Amino acid sequence: MNRKAVITPPVITPSEVPAGAFMLAGGLAARGIEAPIHDLSLGFFRWLFLEHAPGEGYANCIPSLDYLISPGAEFYDPHKHRSVCGVLQSVLKLYARNFPGWQLSLMDSVPPGIAHSTADLLSIAKSGSSPFTEYFKIWLNKIKGTFDHGLISLAYLSQLPAAVEIAWLLEEAGIQVTVGGSLASALYDTGHGIELLKSCFREIALDDGRSITGEDQPFLSKIEWPVFAEDWKYFSSRPVIPFPLTTGCTWNKCLFCPDRDKPFTSISRINLKRLLAGGPDNPVVHLIDSAIPVDIIEEMLPLLRENTSGFYGFARPQGNWLREGLLEKMADSGCLMLQTGAESGSIGILQRFMKGFSPETAERVITRVSDSGMRNYVYLLFGLPGETEEDRELTLDMVRRLKGKIDYMNLSVFNLPEKCELTDRAAEFGIVPGEYDGNASVLRFYRPFQSLDGSDPRKEARVFIRDVFRIDPDVVPVLQSTPRWFRAGHMALMKKLPLF
Ligand code: SF4
Repeated sequence: MNRKAVITPPVITPSEVPAGAFMLAGGLAARGIEAPIHDLSLGFFRWLFLEHAPGEGYANCIPSLDYLISPGAEFYDPHKHRSVCGVLQSVLKLYARNFPGWQLSLMDSVPPGIAHSTADLLSIAKSGSSPFTEYFKIWLNKIKGTFDHGLISLAYLSQLPAAVEIAWLLEEAGIQVTVGGSLASALYDTGHGIELLKSCFREIALDDGRSITGEDQPFLSKIEWPVFAEDWKYFSSRPVIPFPLTTGCTWNKCLFCPDRDKPFTSISRINLKRLLAGGPDNPVVHLIDSAIPVDIIEEMLPLLRENTSGFYGFARPQGNWLREGLLEKMADSGCLMLQTGAESGSIGILQRFMKGFSPETAERVITRVSDSGMRNYVYLLFGLPGETEEDRELTLDMVRRLKGKIDYMNLSVFNLPEKCELTDRAAEFGIVPGEYDGNASVLRFYRPFQSLDGSDPRKEARVFIRDVFRIDPDVVPVLQSTPRWFRAGHMALMKKLPLF
C-alpha cells in the first residue's frame, strides 16, 4: 500500500490554498491518485488562534477571524481589516516570545542562528522545540496510519524551518518523505543550492510532478479538483483558487530574470473548467502566471465571467493591454485587480534590462486599469546596476503623474540572482558579482555585486526610498492604503477607497 498525501509546511499566508500543493494534488487526482492536501500552514494558524491562544490568555482572535471570513459586506473595509490583522499579529508576536530568537508573522518564520543555514535548520528540527512542534505532534497523532508517503510542497524560504522539522518527524514515524516544489527547483537552478537541500531531505523531486506517476506528459496537462484532508477554512471572504494559464513567461527577455530557462506552455482551459466544476461556488481565481498573457486571457474572459466571482493576477504593463476595449472587458468580466510590474519611470533603465515596455505605456495601462474600475497594485524596483539619482527621480515623477490611479504599491530593492543573463554578462553592465561570507552551508538565491564606477545603487536606492520616496505627499497615501498582511489576495477583496 502506498497512500500519498500532499503537505504544505508553515508559514504561508493562510488566505488561499497554496498553489504548488493544489496543482500537485489536482494533477494526481486527474490521474486517479488520491493524495489529500494537508495545509499545515492553515492548520498551524487555526490551532494557534483558535485552540492554543484562548488557553494562554492571549487576545481573543475569534472576532478577527470571523471578520476575515465573513466581513458582512461585499468587500473588506481597509480600516477594520488593519485592526483585525493587528490582533492576529500581536498574538503571533506574544507566542513567538516563548521561542527565543524566533520571529513569526502571518507570512514569515525566521529561526535563530545563521539565516538559511542547513546545519542550523537540522539541529533546530531535531531539538523538537520550535514554534511548530506542539501543533505538529497533534497533527501527527491525528493522521497516524492514513498515508505512507508524504509529498512536501515547498514554495518559499518562510516554509523551510518547518519543512525540515516535519520531514524529520514523518520519517521518525516511518513515513516516506519526498520534497519538491518551486523552491527546490529554484535552488537547483542556482547551481549549488540543491546539494545543501539534500543535507536536509533524503528524497528531492525536481520535475513537475510526473516522476510520481511515471507518465511522460506535462503534469499540468490534466488537473481536476483535489481532495482536502480537512474542510476548506481559509482566512478569506471568498474561496480563492490558484490557476496558471501558462507556465514560463510570454516575454522571457528581462536580463535579471532567474526563470528564463523555464519552457513556455499554455495550460488547456479545460483544466480550469474542470477545477471550477469540482470546487466551491463563486470562487475568485488567482491567476498565478509570471505575466498574464493578453491573448489567452481575452479568450478566457467568458469562462471567468460565468463561473467565478472575480479574478486577479500579475501583468507586464505592455502596449497590447491597451487594445481597444480589452481592459474594460476585463473589468466587466470580474477582474478585481491587476498587479503591474511598472518597475521604473526611467526609459533608460527599462531598455537596458530588456523590460519591453516604456514608462509612458506603463502609465497608460495603469490609468486605464484604474479608469475601468479595477484595483491597481503597482510594483516598483529600485537599485538596478547603473541606476542614478535622476532615474529614481523619474520613477517618483511617474508616480506623481499617476496620482489618484494607484491603489497599492510594492517597493523593492534589486537583488542580483545567482543565475541570470545579467550575472553572466556582468562586465557589460559595469558590475562584478561577488561572494557572501565563506559559510558554505547557507542557502542563497542572490549574490552581492560591486559597481566598477564605485557607486552602490542598492544602498543609494534604500536611502532614496527612506528619505525622499516614502515621505513624498503623493506616495504617502498609497503606502498607507497598502495592507501589510494578507497582501494580494485580500487587496483584491478590499473596498476601493477614493484616491486623492
Ligand atoms: S516578465 Fe518576469 S518572468 Fe517574464 S522575463 Fe521578465 S522577469 Fe522573467
